[in-house]
Amino acid sequence: MGRKGAGGRLKNQQRSFLNCELEKANQVRDQDLDQSWVDSVRQQLIAWYEGSQRDFPWRHENDPYRILVSEMMLVQTTAAAVIPYFERFLRRFPDVQTLASAQEADVLRAWEGLGYYRRARQLQAAARTIVDRHAGEMPRELDAVRALPGVGRYVAGAILSFAFDLPAPIVEANSQRVLARLLAWRGDLKTSASQTRLWAVAERLVPPRGAGKFNQALMDLGALICTPRSPACLLCPLASLCAARRLGIQDSVPVVTPRPRPLAATEACALVVREGTVLVVQRSDGGLWSRFWEFPTINLEGADPAGRSFGAAVSLSEGVERLTGIRVRIGPEIKTLTYAVTRHRVVLRVHLAQACSDSLQPGPGLVDARWVATSELAELPLGSAARRLAAWVHQHFQELSGR
Ligand code: SF4
Repeated sequence: MGRKGAGGRLKNQQRSFLNCELEKANQVRDQDLDQSWVDSVRQQLIAWYEGSQRDFPWRHENDPYRILVSEMMLVQTTAAAVIPYFERFLRRFPDVQTLASAQEADVLRAWEGLGYYRRARQLQAAARTIVDRHAGEMPRELDAVRALPGVGRYVAGAILSFAFDLPAPIVEANSQRVLARLLAWRGDLKTSASQTRLWAVAERLVPPRGAGKFNQALMDLGALICTPRSPACLLCPLASLCAARRLGIQDSVPVVTPRPRPLAATEACALVVREGTVLVVQRSDGGLWSRFWEFPTINLEGADPAGRSFGAAVSLSEGVERLTGIRVRIGPEIKTLTYAVTRHRVVLRVHLAQACSDSLQPGPGLVDARWVATSELAELPLGSAARRLAAWVHQHFQELSGR
């Protein structure tokens, strides 16, 4: 047999194999259009949820305000980590009116530790919109809920389905993993094609009644059984309905793009101490930690997530003078902190410093500079690294003042 004949047969075999795979993939893709499959997923998921649901404080009442607060907190944080913040926040701002009329600094203070402070501001703006435009009641129309500041498609779906049992779909980290595996969806979940597909399936699956329970069941299944690594298919109520399990690819879908390595940054800050007080500055609007307080800090090298560089390199003493108007004598490095922010890993070198002049003048990127007693630091909104440092300063202030 000639080489061409063998090659042609090989190509035909490859083509037929690919067609077969494509056909299988399309069958898998189309199975969610089958009403009996949809009904079975609904029934089996709800039956499992009745005995396995997770208990969270925001699930105790179907109060849309509590659901709004919890969902805004849960955007970048796990449910277990959110619980103490949620309870503290609800004690401080028990209803939408209290939150709407609060000082922004108090809201930021109650949000401290969760990060992503923009969400705290959006939450308060949403509360103000509910009070001003909806007489203090959460609207029940999708467009009106989506129009609230910071409320995207997922949070709107959560509010409408959990609070009002309206058949609004949700797709979030846990449920999208379950949906992708049920369909053996091989695409990268970050692509718009994947998101369009998963939202369409979620919409098809959410039942006309019992939508809140169904959506929470989907999330709980993803959190407890259909976990990112080693899904517990033997315990899964949807095992017989799951295409990934049938094809044996549950460990390799969905495709997860590895996170990029964090960018390194080095910063230096000065603890300028004078007569029982310490120097702090308030950042201006926009960017990271908008209107938060911190000790005067400059960028030394590497990435600059918080916009602390002056263009050209400056010494810490020159940086402090430009930031506050105060001339300082920089002492030894007394502490090193590391913290993570956005895609950055930051090393913060902390120096003790003495003031050599008096007139305070907030510099670029700042709106205020003040001398405060360390006890007052507890009242100011601070980022998590600044809060850790403030607690340490408060504890060691006698010693620092005597140096
Ligand atoms: S059978 Fe396995 S892969 Fe499929 S939904 Fe259940 S746990 Fe996830």
